[in-house]
Amino acid sequence: MDGFLAADIGGTHIRVAAYPTDAIKPILHKRIATRGENTPTERLIDLLVEVSGSLDHVLGIGADVPGYIDPRIGLIYTAPNIPGWRNLPLQAILHERFRVPVALGNDANMAAYGEWEFGAGRGHQDIIYMTISTGIGGGVISDNKLVLGHHGLATEMGHVTVWPEGPMCSCGHRGHLEALASGTAIARWVSEQLALNSPSILSSSPKPTARDISQAAEKGDALAQEALGRAGKFIGQALANYLHIFNSSIIILGGGVSHSGPYLMDPLRSALERNVISPAYLDGLQIKIAELGDDAGLLGSLALIRSQST
Ligand SMILES: [Zn+2]
Repeated sequence: MDGFLAADIGGTHIRVAAYPTDAIKPILHKRIATRGENTPTERLIDLLVEVSGSLDHVLGIGADVPGYIDPRIGLIYTAPNIPGWRNLPLQAILHERFRVPVALGNDANMAAYGEWEFGAGRGHQDIIYMTISTGIGGGVISDNKLVLGHHGLATEMGHVTVWPEGPMCSCGHRGHLEALASGTAIARWVSEQLALNSPSILSSSPKPTARDISQAAEKGDALAQEALGRAGKFIGQALANYLHIFNSSIIILGGGVSHSGPYLMDPLRSALERNVISPAYLDGLQIKIAELGDDAGLLGSLALIRSQST
């Protein structure tokens, strides 16, 4: 059978799957650690070779990369979690090795693409996708096209200022959404409150995670509920700004924190309603949780390489 290879490259694991030309159920799917005795690039190539054995002919390769990347020229500027990946012409390297079309994308962009093609965004022409986990990332489909920008660096949704005097972000700037509403930021805020002796069922756990906080909120813990509400408010505020720019018909929320339920979602919706400059932005607007889970990036990479091979 002929088909495509898709790779999902993360800081911990590299996953590669082989797909037929017209379905999204993989023929073969394998996962290895990103770090090992050889370089991540060699490990990726070895895994692609191994999984390609399940296909008669490889028609193309799609891959998502966790970092700053220009997909048009296939160049990775930096990928902080992948050792040695700086100014790496990965597209050229893979093309040289496999002699088939290769398409690359930023991981959050590819997740947006996957949700658009196969998940919660099917049928929409204008999509805002935001993933909220350790960090905050995203992707935008505008008029049926993935927004890339001049160097492919567009829609870094976590790195917008929502509180100029706020806490420092992982990028070194202050008051970004990621520093206030990511899973890491939620956990940090709760730890700070616990250090001030705020009463909470979490006070017995030394370092509560965003998941612990979400579970505590469900059990009625006021501090945990406040933490999620605070994050939801900042996310809603940022989403109102994005709606003003893109006027999308659907907002798709992915990542672990998106499953925090009403304690996050109700303040998010209220902040969105409060901050839009016209109720017309909300008319028919859908807000949905992402459907593809961990496979969004893999399926987005598949959709991208298929779209470029037809
Ligand atoms: Zn930032």
